[in-house]
Amino acid sequence: MTSAPPLTPELAQVHSAIARACKASRRAAQDVTLIAVSKTRSAEDILPLIHAGHRVFGENRVEEARDKWPSLRADCDGIELHLIGQLQSKKAEDAVAIFDVIHALDRLSLVTALSKAMAKTARHVPCFIQVNIGEEPQKGGCMPGKLGPLIEAARAAGIPLLGLMCIPPADIEAAPFFAFLGKLADQHGLPALSMGMSGDYETAIMLGASHIRVGTALFGPRA
Ligand SMILES: *Cc1c(COP(=O)(O)O)cnc(C)c1O
Repeated sequence: MTSAPPLTPELAQVHSAIARACKASRRAAQDVTLIAVSKTRSAEDILPLIHAGHRVFGENRVEEARDKWPSLRADCDGIELHLIGQLQSKKAEDAVAIFDVIHALDRLSLVTALSKAMAKTARHVPCFIQVNIGEEPQKGGCMPGKLGPLIEAARAAGIPLLGLMCIPPADIEAAPFFAFLGKLADQHGLPALSMGMSGDYETAIMLGASHIRVGTALFGPRA
């Protein structure tokens, strides 16, 4: 047996914050998936995390992921890539080919595009439905009131649904929005919650997050 490689200091810090939040909420740390958000980061930025044993990464752009990840993947087994940004229908096929989980299903037209892409590529990529939890007009995501029909359509189209994802409004306390997302997921029988970023992932864990999306706390501020 080989021992685990040493973590980067940032990864060690995030792991201990996850452990703290899990302990406080009587949850098991292995029930929380840390997605290292590597958008805008170079392979040189990403490699230390891979060498430290981290395997789960998030990108918000299909093109960027397609440019960056094939070579990183070629050198390392077990990479799991999550699409966390908005997805245009015309890029559904590329997204299904590259990503292992999609967090941005937010409208009926994308249900159609994704189910076609999945049938064509025979890759049934699990999805989160993104909810516009603060009902902000400028933001993507399905409005809470339209969630029922969207979930039904996705299920009818055979898209594997994991749960709900949100990005709460900036600059106000996120906890009520996280709690609301949890309630919506319960109502619809969906088990997973993708919520929490560098500034609020401990709160998100205490409110049931199964997937946290952390960039800055692992890589430093983005340019
Ligand atoms: C960039 C991004 C993150 C990570 O944000 P940090 O504050 O850097 O942790 C998480 N989720 C989504 C959807 C993002 O676009």
